[in-house]
Amino acid sequence: MTLLFDTHSHLYDEKYDEDREAVLTECQEKLKGWINVGADLASSIQCKDISAKFPSSFFSSGVHPHDAKDHSMQDLEKVFELLEHDQCIASGEMGLDYFYDFSPRQLQQDLFKEQLKVAKEKNMPCIIHVREAFEDFYKIIDEVGYYNGVIHCFTGTLHDAKEIIDRGFYAGFGGLITFKKTQEIRDAFMVIPNDKILLETDSPYMAPTPKRGKRNLPYYVEYINNKMAELKEITPDEMMTITYQNAKTLFSLK
Ligand SMILES: [Zn+2]
Repeated sequence: MTLLFDTHSHLYDEKYDEDREAVLTECQEKLKGWINVGADLASSIQCKDISAKFPSSFFSSGVHPHDAKDHSMQDLEKVFELLEHDQCIASGEMGLDYFYDFSPRQLQQDLFKEQLKVAKEKNMPCIIHVREAFEDFYKIIDEVGYYNGVIHCFTGTLHDAKEIIDRGFYAGFGGLITFKKTQEIRDAFMVIPNDKILLETDSPYMAPTPKRGKRNLPYYVEYINNKMAELKEITPDEMMTITYQNAKTLFSLK
């Protein structure tokens, strides 16, 4: 039986509107499980609804830094209430994105800090998005003093890889690691200890080679798993077992 587990997908995305039931049924058949990651109140509710129908689907509830400027305090309260749900296994997606800067940086920082504090109170792992914002990320995380979670779709340098590992974080890797021109991602991946690696797709974005450019699907984690196994010189089965164990540990999956 497969242990392939996708720790990061967004199956509420409109790219699945045409065939969502079929996609979810296929995920249920082909994967050990997957996590649907909320990015605002509406999508976090959609994640919860998917979990109610598909027992292998876990979810998280959070507000993405892109949406920092659009949420209200009431929304955020409801996002936090969803954290109490049985199948909700993490807080997020939360973090900082200075690459796109869709929301003012100060708002991103305030929202990140707020979500981090609540996660700390509830002792829940965090799904964290950091893009070109590692210095402020360290500042905030050290101020709150909470180091429980994953830096998803890791895009930091070798130095950042060391910084996050020193703080006890996991690093999530997806399609990027399979692309030709991403040697720096593979270099960072190589210094992450095996017990801190997570497998993810970030569906519908960033489909791995050989599906690059197409709509991504959670069961494409297989291509990513194969690439990771090749890089670390172990078998795909070993890599799948390691990454599933890591997901189980971080997210306390039953
Ligand atoms: Zn995401």
